[in-house]
Amino acid sequence: MRKSILVLITLAFLPSFAGAQRLIDWDKVQVKTQKLDEYVYLLQFIGPEGPGANVGGNVGALISDDGIAIVDCGYALAAPKLEAALKAISGKPIKYLLNTHWHGDHTGANAYFGEGAVIIAHDNARKKMEKRGGLFPASPAMALAAITFSDRITLHMKGGDVLGVHFDHGHTDTDTIYFFPGARVVQTGDDFVNWSPPGFPAIEMDNDGSGGVDGQISADEYILAHAPADVKIIPGHGNLATRDDMVKMLAVLKDTRAAIQAGMAQGKSLDQLKQEKVFAKWDYLNESRHIQSDVYFERLYKTLSAKQNPAAGRNSAN
Ligand SMILES: [Zn+2]
Repeated sequence: MRKSILVLITLAFLPSFAGAQRLIDWDKVQVKTQKLDEYVYLLQFIGPEGPGANVGGNVGALISDDGIAIVDCGYALAAPKLEAALKAISGKPIKYLLNTHWHGDHTGANAYFGEGAVIIAHDNARKKMEKRGGLFPASPAMALAAITFSDRITLHMKGGDVLGVHFDHGHTDTDTIYFFPGARVVQTGDDFVNWSPPGFPAIEMDNDGSGGVDGQISADEYILAHAPADVKIIPGHGNLATRDDMVKMLAVLKDTRAAIQAGMAQGKSLDQLKQEKVFAKWDYLNESRHIQSDVYFERLYKTLSAKQNPAAGRNSAN
């Protein structure tokens, strides 16, 4: 039983979403609604494992007189539950759906809501959803963004603005952080997750050379520099977070990057660094059921060596 839960949670983080969502007992999943401001809400899919292990990405909603804008929408099979939860807050139509990145645990219900809503996402998110191949068919046209952007986008609603800022080379190359400035809320997608216990950050999740650590560091630094002291942070997964939670994760990102770069400067391999127990101070993050140190440091070493030597940058594993 324990094992199947581990598989489920691990899969929930991968692009192999069609299989992952079938492992979830959707009858037992509930949508939890949390009011963060007069106009802004957090909606979470809470499974039998409880609030720390929510299934599917978090959803932010701006609900105002001129309609509803949601950021991310979870798995396809949870779409009716999300729709019902939004209806319980407001009878207004869902007019806009913004995506933080392309992964199916955040965009799975795009096709469902795309019937009535305008989908907005980064250029690369649309491209990756269009091309998805192999076991995972390309997304239907209804799921693809109608409006894309390369750097920033602002949506103006009567209840406030939603500002999207793209950061490259992070969780993926499709990531956008969304700010709700009027509500003092930021929604990060998987550039920041707040699992409990915390776990290693989800860098370079597509394992195709398009992600990395630098984008997550830039995103976190940008948020800390531009958001108010009492900002409410909606993470990609996990419960609502504070500035302190983000400061802690930013320190992990920067210190692990520095440790690898120092080793590389001395010509050391990843195995040598492991043997020298350079990463021992972060062992506590292995308590998490999500990304383990072996996976994290391998990705980190690989993306940082690709940066030093761009000719070797694109791996052939995928
Ligand atoms: Zn993701």
